[in-house]
Amino acid sequence: MSKLIIEARINEYMMREQGNVNVPYTPEEIAADALACREAGAAIVHFHARKADGSPEHSAAIYADTIRTIRRGSDILVHPTLGYNTMDDHTAPSRLKHILELAKDPSASPHFVPLDMGSVNVDRYDPQARRFLTTNQVYSNPTGDLMYFAEHVRAAGLKPYLTCFNIGFLRYANAFADMGLLDEPLYMCLVLTDSIFLGGHPPSLQGLQSHLDHLPPGKKVEWTSMTYGGNLFHLVEAIITRGGHVSIGLGDHPYNEYGMPTNAELIRRVVDIARACGREVATPQEAWNILHPQ
Ligand code: ZN
Repeated sequence: MSKLIIEARINEYMMREQGNVNVPYTPEEIAADALACREAGAAIVHFHARKADGSPEHSAAIYADTIRTIRRGSDILVHPTLGYNTMDDHTAPSRLKHILELAKDPSASPHFVPLDMGSVNVDRYDPQARRFLTTNQVYSNPTGDLMYFAEHVRAAGLKPYLTCFNIGFLRYANAFADMGLLDEPLYMCLVLTDSIFLGGHPPSLQGLQSHLDHLPPGKKVEWTSMTYGGNLFHLVEAIITRGGHVSIGLGDHPYNEYGMPTNAELIRRVVDIARACGREVATPQEAWNILHPQ
């Protein structure tokens, strides 16, 4: 079993008013949090650029600023968003533009680019009121756009992070690998989602296992898992002992079950579980080597 790669998913578009004042917004806050997570044991930081008031911000300049500020403090590997929610123009070149600009500059180049290998409804559901809060939200990733992403991300020398909401996404990743569009090992994130968000597998052992039962056959895969909108700790030991990696943070869930934790405190909790399971934790360099074997 390889060393455990921990990815800190530090902010998404989570607002502090949603329960945790420790969600970082500005480039300086994101960089400080990335450093704290690195010191706690994270190898990768996933972030969304935000304005000081927490609203989304999206430009190559703000991503470059944030990545350079992260780099000044630590060697943690960097995984920005494509920022779907922030843009009106959802054509593939528009969605990838900031990434390709960043990749030209070694001081601002990320390591990973998310490719969500299919489309999914993302309306939030209120189970108490028994109604959807919106009824028209689709996270749309057409096949041709994914082909464009795979081709250009590879040409830029970056690693695709294959986000998979369900088994259909896994089958797409497998087809893309068969077509020669993705390099092994495939780095796959098996998404679990809680009751307000129904697009992923349920955050249960069965939800995780049904992903695992459909990993691309015959391919080299490194997989991680996350729970969007819920507490991943119910499954962290199961993920670690099955050879997976862990993606967790305040971007997904405020974790008020534990008071008002920081992202770094969540990472330390994962490290403690890994140690109890006898699994070592990867440094950023070791994580890079696991995902880019010679
Ligand atoms: Zn994200």
